[in-house]
Amino acid sequence: MVSRQLEERYNLEHGQDSAAGVAIDTRHMDGGFTGFIGSEIYRGSSYGAWHPLRVPRVSTVMDLARALGWLGGESYIPSPCAKPAALAHWHDPAYIAALQKAEAEQQVSHETRDCFGLGTHSNPVYGEVFRRPATGAGGSILAGELLAQGGVIYHPAGGTHHGMPARANGFCYLNDPVLAILSLRRNGIRRIAYIDIDAHHPDGVEMGFAGDPETLMISVHEERRWPFTGELGEDAGGSAVNLPVPRGLNDTEMALIREALILPLVDRFAPEAIVLQCGADAVEEDPLSRLSLSNNAHWKIVAALRPLAPRYLVLGGGGYNPWSVGRLWTGVWAVLNGIEIPDRLPPEGEAVLRAISWHGHRLGRNPPEHWFTTLQDAPREGAVRPELHDRLSFLRQREGLG
Ligand SMILES: [Zn+2]
Repeated sequence: MVSRQLEERYNLEHGQDSAAGVAIDTRHMDGGFTGFIGSEIYRGSSYGAWHPLRVPRVSTVMDLARALGWLGGESYIPSPCAKPAALAHWHDPAYIAALQKAEAEQQVSHETRDCFGLGTHSNPVYGEVFRRPATGAGGSILAGELLAQGGVIYHPAGGTHHGMPARANGFCYLNDPVLAILSLRRNGIRRIAYIDIDAHHPDGVEMGFAGDPETLMISVHEERRWPFTGELGEDAGGSAVNLPVPRGLNDTEMALIREALILPLVDRFAPEAIVLQCGADAVEEDPLSRLSLSNNAHWKIVAALRPLAPRYLVLGGGGYNPWSVGRLWTGVWAVLNGIEIPDRLPPEGEAVLRAISWHGHRLGRNPPEHWFTTLQDAPREGAVRPELHDRLSFLRQREGLG
C-alpha cells in the first residue's frame, strides 16, 4: 500500500469514496495491469440546469461496467483530489486560489470573471467547481505515477483539454491531460504521444507542449468549430499534427485517418507512453458537434494504439448525449480488457441506461430503443471525401510518411 507516499509526493488527498477505506494498491502495476480511475464526486454533479454538462457521464460508465460484471474492486482506483501545490505544476497559483474561493463563496466578482473566465455561461460557478476538476486532475496525476512501471489506466473523467494555465476555458477549469503528461515526466517517462479524437481541438494541451521535441500531439477535430485553433498548417513548433475534418465525418474516413496518419506517426515516434483523449462528442448523436462517427470508430483507435507503447492512459473528454457517452466509454473499458461486447445488454445493464434522463434537449424526449439495449452502434460507413484525401497527403508529406 503506497497511497500515503503518493499523496505526500504529489499533494493529493483521498476523495470521498477512498475515505471509506479503499487503499490504492500498486503491487499489480506491472505491464499487465489495467486500472480504472473513478470517483463518486461525478455522481449528481452538474454545471447547472441548462449547461451541456448537466448530464451524467462517468457515473453511468461506472454503474454500467459494474452491472455487466466488468469492473471489480481489483481494477477500480478511487481518484484522489489534487491539492493546489499539485495543480501548480502547470496552473497559476492565483487562478487556483480564485477557483477555490469560487467554490467556497458560490459566486465570483466581475474582476475574477474577466481575469480567470470563471462564472461565465461556459464555465459557471457550481457546487463542486474546485473539487470536481481537482479530482479529475488528481486522477490524471496519479495515473502518471501508476504507469511508471507500465500498464493501462482508464480515467474517463479526464480529458479536460481546453483548460489554460490561468483561465477556465470551454467547460474545462483545469487541464488534466497536461498534468498527466507532466506527472509521467516526473516519473522518468520522456517520449509521450498524445492523441486527441474529441470533436474539438485541444488548445490547452497544445499550448502546454508546443515546441517540445519529446511530445507528439495528434488531433483530429471538426473544422471551423470552437476554439478555432488547430488548422491544418499549424504544427506547434513541430510538436503537433492537426487534422481538421469536415462535417459528417464517417467511420470509413476515420479508419483511413487511423491507418494512414495516426498509427504510422505514433509507431515511428516510438513513445514510452501514449495518452489518448477519447472525447465522445464526435459521434453522430452528439448535440454540440456535427461529426457522424459510430462508437466503433473510437473503439478501433483505442485497440489499435494499445500495442504501440508499454504505458497507455485513456482519458474521456467531451460528450454531451448521456446515452452515447455512457455506451461509448463503457465500451472503451471492455476493449481495454479484451471483453467481448454483447449484441444485446443483459437486463442489469439495460436498467442503467433506462434510468438516464436528459431534460432540455429534443433527443432526450424519445430516445431510440437501441440506446437502452446495446452498447455498440451500427457502423456508419461512407465515401472518403476528396478534401480529406488532400489533407492526409499534405500531412503525410510534411511528416515524411511519403
Ligand atoms: Zn469536445
